[in-house]
Amino acid sequence: MEERKSLDRRTFLGAAGAAMAGATTGGSPLPVATAQSRAISSPRRTTIAYDPDVLIVGGGPAGIGAALGAAWHGAKTLLIEHHAFFGGVAAWCLGMPINQMRPDRQARSKVHELVIEKLTAYGDQAVRIGQHQLWCNVDYLKVAVLDALDQVGCKYLVHTRAVDALAEGGRLAGVVVSTKQGLATIRAKVFVDCTGDADVAYFGGAETMKEIGSLSHQTLCLNLTNVTADQVRKANIRDIARKAKSKYPLIPDSWGLGKVSNGSSFYINHAGTRDLGQFDTTDPVQRTEAECQSRRQVLQMTLAMREFGGDELKNIELIGTGTQIGVRETRRVKGPYVLTEEDALSGRKFEDAIAWRSGFLDIGFVRLSKMKIHDVPYRAIVPEKLDGLLVAGRCISATHVAASAGKSMGNCVATGHAAGLAAALAARKGCTPRELKVAGLQDALRADGVDLNRAGDEQEELVNKG
Ligand SMILES: Cc1cc2nc3c(=O)[nH]c(=O)nc-3n(C[C@H](O)[C@H](O)[C@H](O)COP(=O)(O)OP(=O)(O)OC[C@H]3O[C@@H](n4cnc5c(N)ncnc54)[C@H](O)[C@@H]3O)c2cc1C
Repeated sequence: MEERKSLDRRTFLGAAGAAMAGATTGGSPLPVATAQSRAISSPRRTTIAYDPDVLIVGGGPAGIGAALGAAWHGAKTLLIEHHAFFGGVAAWCLGMPINQMRPDRQARSKVHELVIEKLTAYGDQAVRIGQHQLWCNVDYLKVAVLDALDQVGCKYLVHTRAVDALAEGGRLAGVVVSTKQGLATIRAKVFVDCTGDADVAYFGGAETMKEIGSLSHQTLCLNLTNVTADQVRKANIRDIARKAKSKYPLIPDSWGLGKVSNGSSFYINHAGTRDLGQFDTTDPVQRTEAECQSRRQVLQMTLAMREFGGDELKNIELIGTGTQIGVRETRRVKGPYVLTEEDALSGRKFEDAIAWRSGFLDIGFVRLSKMKIHDVPYRAIVPEKLDGLLVAGRCISATHVAASAGKSMGNCVATGHAAGLAAALAARKGCTPRELKVAGLQDALRADGVDLNRAGDEQEELVNKG
């Protein structure tokens, strides 16, 4: 049923696009629909005045890595994002650590380092750097990302959402986006799906996988103030939650407060919807329920701390909540290789390695296992059945558990970097990502400072203190 609706919509969009193409190439160009020229009964169409080699959809950690990787290598690159800013979960989650950006305090690539350089340029209020992670004030992060994109000459659009895709002869040819002027189709030589939800791959007809029944839960993060670090240390949240549970039934059984950068406010990342049910956030009804329950949950957590938190927390104040719930898992693209839990635990090496992943195998608030540094093969970022597209970040080809092993944001920047660079090379050579010679991509990644011999390494004991 869902498939049928999607086909109907695609047929309609294709027809609308064809009509527009005929009008502009037939010698009598029609003006683009604007406020002045619009005809009320016709569907709104508009054009994006940029014709990229590489289109990157989604501006979270993976999209930022992809945009920097592609534009730095000379590709005409456009990054689009449906929120008003870049950062994805790093920005919505209000100050939690961006992990694995500099594992063992060593530079991981010039792309990772550019983001760090732009953040540190804003001083102590912007960022605190730890053993491998960055704790940011997210409003500095949002601007630091713009600074990095500007430096490498990447064009970008916010408030621009991919809502469909056009595939021609098994190859992705365009992405349909919604804007305030209506729908537009952006064509490019190569596309990179960094939406987290594999939206572009799904709209384009690539095979995707979803863990129905055991999807990782979602979390709406929050910022708090009017409390000192000493008061936070003394408060017993588990005890508060136990006492408050009958009055505030949505609260998790415990949570922790972490300091935002070097400032005086705190963020909370917590178990979110883990005990409230299963929500597939690609389903509009379930997504609405997860968002709305989470907003009630955050107020209940704050009230629980104020009422049951004793002298330490009685004056704590809620500054705000994330832009939306943080989503850990939805669709993943099926590639010629699917990364597994065993790959992560054994530190597997691959001939076609294009990135590596470090940190914990971490299914947030459900399981935390030690793992080894392991490779990501190129075959895990190329969809099995759709050409012209690469994927990066949390929607690469991996099992449910292996996806969690790579979810730290520094790892998502790394797969983004590799995908963006692969897209730039494929566009330059006029081939599809599938036809690209991996050896050339690996050489270019090494030149960007990526050490492709890390797989199998044990990691230093990870600490979450900066
Ligand atoms: C609650 C929570 C806590 C976490 N804690 C940590 C932590 O402490 N440290 C850590 O390193 N990692 C943590 N993670 C994991 C990490 O945040 C994610 O794995 C990572 O952000 C994934 O990066 P991504 O770029 O693939 O996707 P996202 O960060 O999800 O970014 C996707 C981007 O694409 C945009 N987008 C989506 N669909 C469309 C569309 N159709 N059109 C246009 N734009 C679109 C979104 O708005 C977003 O900006 C956490 C995740 C969650 C949810």
